[in-house]
Amino acid sequence: MTELLYQTDAYLKEFSATITFVDAETRAVVLDRSAFYPGGGGQPCDFGTLEVAGISYPVEKVKKQGDDVHHFLGGSAELPVPGSAATGMLDWARRHNLMRTHTAMHILCGTVFRDYGAKVTGGDMDPLKGRMDFEFETMRGELVRNIEAAVNLEVGEARDIRVKILPREEAFQIPDLIRTKISLLPEGILQVRTVEIVGLDLQADGGTHVMNTSEVGKVKVVDYKSKGAINKRIYLEIQ
Ligand SMILES: [Zn+2]
Repeated sequence: MTELLYQTDAYLKEFSATITFVDAETRAVVLDRSAFYPGGGGQPCDFGTLEVAGISYPVEKVKKQGDDVHHFLGGSAELPVPGSAATGMLDWARRHNLMRTHTAMHILCGTVFRDYGAKVTGGDMDPLKGRMDFEFETMRGELVRNIEAAVNLEVGEARDIRVKILPREEAFQIPDLIRTKISLLPEGILQVRTVEIVGLDLQADGGTHVMNTSEVGKVKVVDYKSKGAINKRIYLEIQ
């Protein structure tokens, strides 16, 4: 089982760990603790490097399998052995851009729900760009410009972002969480991680976020399109 360091400290760029398992076939190593985000909830995985006994391995993909985080090592250097001490270093520019993007997506969710009552049906992101689908019947250019202005207003409000890990029962009593997909959480999940943009948005979320909306930067809605009778897609870019 890998301790997920990014869940409580999104700003951790470097960490030490012990290798608990090595899969020679896939060149994947499991660590007892990791700051590498393994992907999920629309946020792509981190990249970076893993240093073991003087050898620097590129981390080319990270994936969660059960309770273990697998770090896929590039290059052709001989693989380390279980029990070795390792130092992980994130590609911080990429991760920080993903944090800014992920928070921008939550600002978008929060403002669209507050101003229009429209719920999110899906989304995806890359560093500094993302798309989100909403239950909207019609979408016009004017509406999109209003949404963009509202999002940038919230960036300028410099709202704090708070992350909490709550017991399941406690999370299920928060009305703002009930409107999201929290009811779909499997029964075996006993804790719910929540991400709150204070005064704007609260969601059950496993991703990494910046500490304050001011860190997001300027958000541009670059396109929108219809994805069916009640689904409209909005495309964002961060500058
Ligand atoms: Zn999210």
